[in-house]
Amino acid sequence: MGVSSASPAASRSTDAIDLADRKHAWHPFTQMKEYQANPRLHLVRGEGSWLIDTEGRKYLDGNASVWTNVHGHNDPDLNAALEKQLHQLAHVTLLGLNHPVATELAEELAGLTNGKLPRCFFTDNGSNAVEVALKLSFQFWQLTGHPEKRGVISMSGAYHGDTFGTMSVGDNRTFHKRFTPWLFSSQIFDAPRHEECAGKIKFSDATQSLQALENILKSQAEQTASLILEPRVQGAAGMHQQPAGFVKAVAQLCKQYDVHLILDEVFTGFGRLSSLTACAEEGVVPDFLCLAKGLAAGYLPLAATLTSEKIFEAFQGEFSEGRTFFHGHTFSGNPLGCAVALASLKKLRPMISSGQIAERAQQLGDEIQNNFSNHPNIASYRQYGLTGAVDFKPADGEAKAWTVDMRVGYQIALAARRHGLVIRPLGDSILFVPPISIQPSEVTHLVQAVRRAMDDVIPNL
Ligand SMILES: *Cc1c(COP(=O)(O)O)cnc(C)c1O
Repeated sequence: MGVSSASPAASRSTDAIDLADRKHAWHPFTQMKEYQANPRLHLVRGEGSWLIDTEGRKYLDGNASVWTNVHGHNDPDLNAALEKQLHQLAHVTLLGLNHPVATELAEELAGLTNGKLPRCFFTDNGSNAVEVALKLSFQFWQLTGHPEKRGVISMSGAYHGDTFGTMSVGDNRTFHKRFTPWLFSSQIFDAPRHEECAGKIKFSDATQSLQALENILKSQAEQTASLILEPRVQGAAGMHQQPAGFVKAVAQLCKQYDVHLILDEVFTGFGRLSSLTACAEEGVVPDFLCLAKGLAAGYLPLAATLTSEKIFEAFQGEFSEGRTFFHGHTFSGNPLGCAVALASLKKLRPMISSGQIAERAQQLGDEIQNNFSNHPNIASYRQYGLTGAVDFKPADGEAKAWTVDMRVGYQIALAARRHGLVIRPLGDSILFVPPISIQPSEVTHLVQAVRRAMDDVIPNL
């Protein structure tokens, strides 16, 4: 098989695709030695919540194609919106130019905060949406006579992306520790701690966390530009929750100490927590709101950073004043992505208001509890909205401790494929992040497939 073979991928045999993948690919967040030693999966088609491989086998998309998918794959309405735009204009830059689909989407997104964050800065992925918020905040304080406000506060377990700025405000040793010599330092306060069973987190579980935050603000607010938070659920940390009222309390502290609040809703937006945004649900308007993953429904890379008129105003001036925000990505606000995002929002609103998503979320919580509570190999489990996690452990009194190289979560995820499910592990945990449009029978399939995979793997460790 020649490298320059012109045959379309779909018509190649699985073996041929496999061979070329082994030869040329370097997959993200993947130990390639391990990847090559295990069965590989080449997905060629999607239908609703399902993915179909080169051999015609079907798998439920249990991580919503890395937390992005809203209406399922191959959705006729989104397909039509995409196709319509495709025949108009596939791409044009927003650098000093405009296309009306971006305008229409910016108007829609302003509605997410009742017009309180009317300014929309488009980019093309979640890391960039966060980079923009950080840089806008830094530049705002410079432009308004406070160059000393340079620091950033973030919460333990935070994940905001993999670029240098976002790694600097993240708190993930496995992913980012080796790059620390190149990162700027940030202040980290402890996340709320709680007993991790579905629905049990109370506001009082956050008292220490809020106290720790206030202590940092008391001593350092004058040197601090912003605080960044994933509201309600920290996804990459393992779906760890904050109680209702926590985001509001953080927002009040930020206001009191004159520090910008950046809410990273790259994961939590667009139905994931049964709402359009977690901040609106919490009655909070941040200074910056970062959106990506579900924005274009899992179809195309699109991101946005929303901010207030006050922040925007500070950047106005004659060119020679140097107030311009010099930041932009080639595919910022791509028209195809904007067209799909508009169609997605139109479909998503009634799914939220009818209570359909909240019902599925409740079902997910119930099924996780039914399948995993009181099991000797379950350390904890949790669910909020359409997010969930189970953490596995050796049974009490078991002679053998689990080592990192046993790859328990990964083995369970591989075994789940045999039960018709693709899902991602995190250490010794499995994360549940289905498409927002998942059907009741599919929620059952999702949770049961993980349970069966666990029963296949753990007794044979
Ligand atoms: C995924 C994620 C990001 C990074 O988004 P990318 O599009 O992968 O760059 C940032 N913040 C949160 C909360 C995320 O879940």
